Amino acid sequence: MRLLVTGGAGFIGSEFVRATLRGVLPSSSGTHITVLDKLTYSGNELNLAPIADLQNYRFVQGDICDGDLVDDVVAGHDAIVHFAAETHVDRSIEGAASFVCTNALGTQVLLEAASRHRLGRFVHISTDEVYGSISEGAWTEASPVAPNAPYAAAKAAGDLLALAWHRTRKLDVVVTRCTNNYGPYQYPEKLIPLFTTNLLDGQQVPVYGDGHNRRQWLHVSDHCRAIQLVLLGGRPGEVYHIGGGTELTNLELTERILDACGAGWDMVRHVPDRLGHDLRYSLDTTKIHTELGYSPRVAFEDGLAETVEWYRTHRGWWEPLKNPDKAAGSPTDAGR
Ligand code: NAD
Repeated sequence: MRLLVTGGAGFIGSEFVRATLRGVLPSSSGTHITVLDKLTYSGNELNLAPIADLQNYRFVQGDICDGDLVDDVVAGHDAIVHFAAETHVDRSIEGAASFVCTNALGTQVLLEAASRHRLGRFVHISTDEVYGSISEGAWTEASPVAPNAPYAAAKAAGDLLALAWHRTRKLDVVVTRCTNNYGPYQYPEKLIPLFTTNLLDGQQVPVYGDGHNRRQWLHVSDHCRAIQLVLLGGRPGEVYHIGGGTELTNLELTERILDACGAGWDMVRHVPDRLGHDLRYSLDTTKIHTELGYSPRVAFEDGLAETVEWYRTHRGWWEPLKNPDKAAGSPTDAGR
């Protein structure tokens, strides 16, 4: 299969590419992957270094909003797995333009090209955040989207466009919605890598508000295995939830990270809550379990310990991202 992976230099996309090309994911032998990635602040070619020399891999730097480029790159592929997105909620509250461009318009550009070149499958990677917040119970795939943050609203726009392309153009679209991911190579602005790297540097960690917001956490390798199952066996036009991980309040998660890093509560400071901070997300994952036999495999305690160890032993990866001035030695790089 010739796969086009957008956003393949980011956290989850690069795990999917590495796992596919190393044959870790089932039925991945014989796959050729092209990565299309703009290399924004969160995209990093180092994430793909372990497979960069393989013959069945190609990297194209570019923007999914660039129609001519996308049309060229999409030609000759069998399927697209679409990860590319602006992903950080706090950044979307500060300024939403790039979120709307990439997550909504960029998705539409890809859908147009996929239809034009008659691709066999389009897997649109999305998030539980499109549903808003739920105080009890869990959303099913039939629940209406009701996003709150600009990030989630722009992702929901992409989801709805993808499903519209299935209905109107008969494009073979499948949408996945996943809970929070964690694991190696995650940009150190997200909670687990931010807290871990702060503690490794002897710095305090910032907990939003009272810390009672609840999230479900899934190891990135489980997410990618589920995406592969959906790519190969998901039904066209369907949404699949991916989750089944561990649900924790931010305070419970903080305690586990403190323990894993050998730090105490004196390293925690409470900061004003995020605007419109969703209290809880929860996905019902019966459908993917029943239809595709998916269950997560990585126990949270093991995955977190392994993740903390990865950050402990990969300072060379994250230090330049957190301290660009020091790394580049140039004040002009300070905005990155
Ligand atoms: P990330 O921020 O680590 O990576 C995003 C990648 O997209 C980067 O490599 C970036 O360079 C690329 N990109 C951004 N704009 C682009 C553009 N215009 N053209 C081409 N490439 C562009 O994000 P991630 O955490 O790996 O998330 C990947 C996908 O998974 C996203 O669609 C996100 O919404 C979804 N998701 C993430 C999580 C999570 O916990 N991280 C959970 C559920 C769903």
